Amino acid sequence: KKRGFDAHVSSGEVHTVIGCVGGKIIDPRDIELLDGVKEVKTIREPFRLASRDRKSEDTVIEFENGVKIGGANRPVAMVGPCSVEDDYEGLRQVAFAAKELGCQFLRGGAFKPRTSPYDFDGLGEKGLQYLAQAKEETGLLVVTELMDSTDLELVCKYADVIQIGARNMQNFDLLKEVGHYTKKPILLKRGLSSTLQELLMSAEYIMASGNPNVILCERGIRTFETSTRNTIDLTVVPLLHSLTHLPIIIDPSHATGVARLVHPVSVAATAIGADGLIIEVHNDPPHAKCDGAQSQTPEMFAETMKVVNQIRPYACR
Ligand code: PEP
Ligand code: MN
Repeated sequence: KKRGFDAHVSSGEVHTVIGCVGGKIIDPRDIELLDGVKEVKTIREPFRLASRDRKSEDTVIEFENGVKIGGANRPVAMVGPCSVEDDYEGLRQVAFAAKELGCQFLRGGAFKPRTSPYDFDGLGEKGLQYLAQAKEETGLLVVTELMDSTDLELVCKYADVIQIGARNMQNFDLLKEVGHYTKKPILLKRGLSSTLQELLMSAEYIMASGNPNVILCERGIRTFETSTRNTIDLTVVPLLHSLTHLPIIIDPSHATGVARLVHPVSVAATAIGADGLIIEVHNDPPHAKCDGAQSQTPEMFAETMKVVNQIRPYACR
């Protein structure tokens, strides 16, 4: 009661159950420490704003050109190279191929998190300018990654969707800053070893800072399996749809790391009800500066979109 809860006592023969309503979210372990308490079970999810209890209808994110993510508008497609390279013509080819297939977004990193400090880490502002030019030519909306808050203003200027990558999912200061600074949609990728609850708590950081427009992205997690780059568990799609009202998209490229596996995972993700797909497509994968092995060619991607569109009417939900 001291913590603001209303307590409702039900006494049974063996156990006494005290239902606590209202009050502030507490760490259940603090109450478990008290004498006479066997166990504390929380009913309310700690991700208050993101939870389905809070808002039963799906969040639909709408862009100025009428494109929507979430609800019945699925799946949207975000397509493009891993990193924007110093070859505008290549980017343009991929963008036009995507546009012709009915995709809505062009993806491409100008600031790249790379495991090795010796690898290509992006073109910076020049890459953002190439994306803007491709947007101008095709009308595709731009999805690009923000790694550091010092680039927030710059990335915000060019991005229609700001990606927070797997490695930054728990960079809480970055999440807070991006939430304070902008209401542009944030594509939040699940960390390499993060639970769904942790993913949702990171979404909560952005929302609690003032930006409700969060799109969750499953991109596979690190497991003991080595035959794929990561392990993708597509059951997160229906699971997240029951836990949260936020849209959830799948990244089959980073999930598998293998170009020929991108097609079947895209089809399965569509069937299971994903709100979108983010797929790496490169005009010349063998010469890509980043993630060529998992990049589809425009031809492979066209085949994937063909089947995705056939599956679309039968998708779960
Ligand atoms: C990316 O989308 O290019 C990327 C770096 O993804 P992730 O953060 O999921 O590894
Ligand atoms: Mn990549």
